[in-house]
Amino acid sequence: MARKSEDYVVGVDLGGTKILAGIVARDGKILARVKAKTEVEAGYRRIISTLAASVNRAVTESKIPRAHIRAVGVGVPGPVDPETGVVKVAPNLRWKNVPVKKLLEKSLALPVLVENDVNAGTVGEHRFGAGVGVKNLVGIFVGTGIGGGLIINGSLYHGFSKAAGEVGHMIIDVNGPRCGCGNKGCLEALASRSAIVRKLAAAVRKGSKTALTAIVSDKNMRQVGSSVIADAFLGGDKLTVKVVKRAARYCGIGVASILNLLNPEMVVLGGGVVQAFGSEYVRLVANAARKRTFDVTFRGVRIVPALLGDDAVLLGAASLAREKYERRE
Ligand SMILES: [Zn+2]
Repeated sequence: MARKSEDYVVGVDLGGTKILAGIVARDGKILARVKAKTEVEAGYRRIISTLAASVNRAVTESKIPRAHIRAVGVGVPGPVDPETGVVKVAPNLRWKNVPVKKLLEKSLALPVLVENDVNAGTVGEHRFGAGVGVKNLVGIFVGTGIGGGLIINGSLYHGFSKAAGEVGHMIIDVNGPRCGCGNKGCLEALASRSAIVRKLAAAVRKGSKTALTAIVSDKNMRQVGSSVIADAFLGGDKLTVKVVKRAARYCGIGVASILNLLNPEMVVLGGGVVQAFGSEYVRLVANAARKRTFDVTFRGVRIVPALLGDDAVLLGAASLAREKYERRE
């Protein structure tokens, strides 16, 4: 029994540009961290073999005996069947129906759990971050796109077709801009970083004065990172403040619908945009949500920033793997 507390799991965040692997202790402490490049052009077999090599390297660097490694959890950017571990589609990786669990289990000789990255990130925040001890929680991650995860009665909620949590595609404005999914006015089309940048670029083209034009030309406006926009926002640049406030208001409208529907006790806001704009952004979202909810669905609800940053997915995937493979004893 004493041995059990020493058992470790590996968490992996497989992204479109990098792979992050870490050995995770029971208390969420990350013992060794390995980073590798995701070579999307090289195809899925190469990505899987880089991932396996990163896991092995992390195990070696942690100096934990391999016999103490219980399982591996992987967060991937796309919908997954958590039973089979098949990634149905992952546009960032150019994947379709890749049997990640099967391939990795063969290569690593360890049990592998595969989960959607935003779901894993939400679990990470719930087990080790902003949502520790909370029973019902919704995670919303605002970056290039917008994703979400639902924790209901302490467990990740997958839904009928394992596709729950697509908060980025809740329709906020039926006459709004076209979304990547084909619909109009999704939250993602109105409040993601891409949406903010699109709005800023359009204003600059129309001749609006902004601090950002000094930094970037109209041409490379689309490549502007969250931190550059955040600097302009926090520095009080009028156009940027207006555009970001508008995006935050849309996010708050989405949060209001979530609160009215699910009445969770906490909403965790994470992702690059939230990280860059900080507590001011969270306050704007909460204000917009408060105006559109029933007193009873808003009162006492905590709308808070995520705490784990880039480690959320890795920690959540590790947690899910631990929970699944411990139960089998
Ligand atoms: Zn959409």
